[in-house]
Amino acid sequence: MTKNLVIQNGLIVTANEHLDVFTGDIWIKDDCIVSMGSTISPPNDATRIDATNCIVMPGLIQTHVHTCQTLARGYADHLSLLDWLKQLIWPYEATLTASDVAIAAKLAMTELVLGGTTSILDMGTVRHTEHIFQAAHDIGIRAHIGKVMMDKQEDMIPKPLQENTRQSIDESIALYKQWHGKENERLHYALAPRFSLSCTKQLLVETAQIARDYNLLIHTHANETLEEIELIQKELNVTHLEYLHSLGLTGKHVALAHCVHLQDIERNIIKETETHIVHCPSSNLKLASGIAPTPEYLKEHINIGIGADGAPCNNNLDGFWEMRLAALIQCPRFTAKALQTHQVLRMATLSGAQILGSTDQIGSLEVNKKADIIIVDNQNSHTVPQNNPYSTLVYTSRSSDVRDVIIDGKIIVKEKHLLTADTEETIHHAQEHANEIFKRI
Ligand SMILES: [Zn+2]
Repeated sequence: MTKNLVIQNGLIVTANEHLDVFTGDIWIKDDCIVSMGSTISPPNDATRIDATNCIVMPGLIQTHVHTCQTLARGYADHLSLLDWLKQLIWPYEATLTASDVAIAAKLAMTELVLGGTTSILDMGTVRHTEHIFQAAHDIGIRAHIGKVMMDKQEDMIPKPLQENTRQSIDESIALYKQWHGKENERLHYALAPRFSLSCTKQLLVETAQIARDYNLLIHTHANETLEEIELIQKELNVTHLEYLHSLGLTGKHVALAHCVHLQDIERNIIKETETHIVHCPSSNLKLASGIAPTPEYLKEHINIGIGADGAPCNNNLDGFWEMRLAALIQCPRFTAKALQTHQVLRMATLSGAQILGSTDQIGSLEVNKKADIIIVDNQNSHTVPQNNPYSTLVYTSRSSDVRDVIIDGKIIVKEKHLLTADTEETIHHAQEHANEIFKRI
């Protein structure tokens, strides 16, 4: 039976190419938007949501997160990237059981959807990534997920995270077959080689080939810190991007998290191949990686998404916080005019959809697109008066202002309550699991 849902009387920030904003209604039939405007005629029996004094906008898209890491929130402060990985994150991921991964992902997705993020590109972990898919299935978030691939047999990598090239590829393909396109195409597989220092050349070459054969996205880290760049350059004798490009890991189907430091030749490769960058401002500040010069990248028409990265390097998964920071951190270097608020909002909406190859489905509110919509309460002491809705959303709104969340036409969050899981129970189990994990490390 067809389900009709109507959002009424909201300030609709479409985030489309024309940046249309108007006060009106949105009619959703099943999973899609069928009509928008100030005078629409939905059926009388449609479910109605009153959005008076609220901003209605597309759900946020975070194109770089690690939901499996959420139980390490608060356990990994004051470390730079390689120490952070070696001393804490790899030992943490190495000890995760299937049920730890399940509760970590559930906690992450609870935080994400309650905060208005409706779609993620998630880097899983070496083992048990099926439980991340199961959590996304249950919570109702739209997700591209991939198991972490890391086949380099290095002493610094704990044994349980070591895998051989064949295992890594076979398991990736098995997960693809099990989950890709499931739940009305809400769940997708994305290949996730961790980064060049933890992957053999053979693995990267084969990953590039599988991506072409299966038409899949590749999600990896690149040029996050100077230390990592130096190690790669010493080992390979070329710049990192030249290396990735030579192996086939550039293009419209490749998302590179970070790219804080790029040489001109690398920036040109990204630009010419239309490879995407995912900006993670909190993580880059906390791990002391640096500040990616996003205004320069945008000037060169490089597509940039946004992501909170993982809870232990942020320590939240808050899309609104990332937008505010993405806007503010550029000002000291590039002046107060560094980025316009609508450009920042775009990173978390339409540009994210571009990374996922889904601009025909998500990233803006338009007729025939999927109904991935959030309703943000604007009637708070910290948000009124409102002048420009982009300014409100980027500088002023908080994730806790998100009142209702609709994903694939289904109401997932209603009046700030998650309908698809018991939040109290998730919080309780997450703390219990974290206590046990950190006794084992
Ligand atoms: Zn990351």
